[in-house]
Amino acid sequence: MVGRIQTNRKTKIGVLVMEMKWEWTGEPAILEDIKNCVGEGWNGIIERLVADLEKLGWDGTVAQVKEKFGGLRFYIGGGTHEVWERISEAEKESMNTCQNCGKPGKIDKWGKWWLLCLCPECGENRRNSKL
Ligand SMILES: [Zn+2]
Repeated sequence: MVGRIQTNRKTKIGVLVMEMKWEWTGEPAILEDIKNCVGEGWNGIIERLVADLEKLGWDGTVAQVKEKFGGLRFYIGGGTHEVWERISEAEKESMNTCQNCGKPGKIDKWGKWWLLCLCPECGENRRNSKL
């Protein structure tokens, strides 16, 4: 495996997570911070993604994590074909997962032009709260 680095960081729940860093600043990228870049419904997708990427030899460099057009975007510094494949798998999964609660959801327009991936329940709540 190329570029594999030590797993020496513990999350609050005591799971070993590989050491990651932000590409532009070189600052450590904490899993919690990465998850906070998007809705908490996608926490599980990101956790599984990071665990798999580590196994695939990813170097842990994170460029940006965000929601775009209702889907997760996970940008990294670089990686093998397998690494990119696994990321696009996670991005596809996010497009069927409510970004708010993690239940099955779909991308729809909420408000004037905002595309979000929500389950019927969270969608209804969002409509009612008129955000
Ligand atoms: Zn939901």
